[in-house]
Amino acid sequence: MEPVPEYTPVELLEKTRSLGFPEYLQDFFQECIDFHTYPAPGVLIGVFMVDYALAALGKRPRDKIFVTCETPKCLPDPPQVIMHATIGNHRLRVLPIGKFAITLTPSSADESVEGVRVSIDRKKMSRYATLASWYDNSPAFRPATMKRQLVDEILAAGRDILSCERVRMKVTPKKRWKSVTCPSCGEQVPEDLMEGDHCAGCGSMAYYEKVP
Ligand SMILES: [Zn+2]
Repeated sequence: MEPVPEYTPVELLEKTRSLGFPEYLQDFFQECIDFHTYPAPGVLIGVFMVDYALAALGKRPRDKIFVTCETPKCLPDPPQVIMHATIGNHRLRVLPIGKFAITLTPSSADESVEGVRVSIDRKKMSRYATLASWYDNSPAFRPATMKRQLVDEILAAGRDILSCERVRMKVTPKKRWKSVTCPSCGEQVPEDLMEGDHCAGCGSMAYYEKVP
């Protein structure tokens, strides 16, 4: 079969306009595709997930909200772009569970906090055969010819393939820490990150050797 070219970012944004998505959602797509550098299917689904979770929580994108993402693939990008919840500002946590799911919780001074978890619901995918084959990582999904159809189905589905549930989780309190010098490398690290008598950089997380 002839290869079917996938959507360019410009074509894809044109498509979101022609489908009549609200302007703010079109902006989310544009900003997320730009940040991710290409319109990955997981990013597109992630935009719907963040939008759904925010609506369920009754919050606005720039409210102080903590995000837990259950996969490092694609999904961490939409909350970073839309909500400015990043690894660096400690409002984004990525757990390598391997599920396409995201939990949003408001800022709280209590021991636990209630929020919403939005996940892909495979049972709701029966009307979207290409999307289902891609999601299953099945050989039936052929990237050379089916990427355009995949995006069409993602945009047609929107929240249709998602589930939203109320959840409660523990709040991790901020802990005090003390700076120590690693005797092995002479560099400073927080004491609780030491691995016995050396830092993790000299131990289990060593990843480079010095070039003379
Ligand atoms: Zn060290």
